[in-house]
Amino acid sequence: MKKLKGLLRNTRIRSLPNYMLKNVGIALWPIDITLYLTFACPNFCPHCYHRISEKDHKSGEGSGEDSSLSLSDYERFIKECSFLKPQIRFSGGEPFLYPHLLELTGFIKECGLKLAIITNGCLLAPNAQSLLDLHVDVVIVSLYGPALVHDRIVQRKGALRDIEAGVRAIIALKRKRNSCIPLIIINYILTNDNYLHFPEMVQWTENIGGDTINLTHLWFWDQQAVTQQNQDFPEFGLLQSTPNSTLCGLDPIALVRKIDLVQRKTHTIQISYYPLLSPNEIITYYQQPHQHLGAQRCIIPWTTSYVFPNGDLKPCYLNYSTGNIKEQSFQQIWNGKKFRTFRIALAKHGYFPACKRCTGLFLFNVKHNQALIS
Ligand code: SF4
Repeated sequence: MKKLKGLLRNTRIRSLPNYMLKNVGIALWPIDITLYLTFACPNFCPHCYHRISEKDHKSGEGSGEDSSLSLSDYERFIKECSFLKPQIRFSGGEPFLYPHLLELTGFIKECGLKLAIITNGCLLAPNAQSLLDLHVDVVIVSLYGPALVHDRIVQRKGALRDIEAGVRAIIALKRKRNSCIPLIIINYILTNDNYLHFPEMVQWTENIGGDTINLTHLWFWDQQAVTQQNQDFPEFGLLQSTPNSTLCGLDPIALVRKIDLVQRKTHTIQISYYPLLSPNEIITYYQQPHQHLGAQRCIIPWTTSYVFPNGDLKPCYLNYSTGNIKEQSFQQIWNGKKFRTFRIALAKHGYFPACKRCTGLFLFNVKHNQALIS
């Protein structure tokens, strides 16, 4: 019985039945729902796609009022889908700038759902106690390198100091309460400015007492992929290329050497890679952006959905809304006409031109995924 329960909780196994109805575009249940609570953010990462794609991005000085969803909008939405037991993620922008984050957290946990919060760490310290009180499962902190490098990339002085204070506060409380949650995952996102610092930041994560460091290769859309996508599938929303200057000049061979250095040493923390690429695949990923890597078909829209701050529910990062949660129920949108049309087209083609460097092609691929939550 215990084994069966474990299997039913396994993300990959739970996702399998969804894809069986691929040709009619229906999916049984969502595995993972990401709520972009706000696009407000005090950081200015040059590679942030939301910065260029969302007109309503704020400087972060406000209190997250760019989100037009109220607490009751979110609670109604969670109530509608909670019996399906999806994992919920908060993301942004900086989710802690959403004024009702803690109340919403409490509601989600009362519904018995697993919750991960993806944060830049700026408000972790003042919220540490609440995160433990509310039994948040996972905190994923975006990190870009040692202090000088991190602060330079996110364009905010003292940004790494905030992360350190927040992580230390959570770890101290976990020890005091003998609690193993929230799990602290440091998400090390690679750019051309920080990729050589990976071994150093593995050590930093060990020293500070984090549970896991995950190395993330940035997903990107270059001009060729975007042009092809917009030409072949305009019905799924027009795209613009991601700001790729932060990947220019990244030497994949030097990166492979740094990863090798990390892998040769024994560590006390878990080290994961997303996507998990072989040395040759790392070189292809960066040097041949039009060469396909990963799975032959994307099944993300059968398992996942993203709620944007204005209430639009999207199957992925493509600029295609399948409905708005302020106007329709989750059930109406999840297997509504727009979502099914998207899934049917995707099932027919396997993947779209814009998918070649989307991490979605790696998520349910056993070879390439060590998922942040599984
Ligand atoms: S691989 Fe394509 S369809 Fe799948 S999530 Fe990424 S952009 Fe969307």
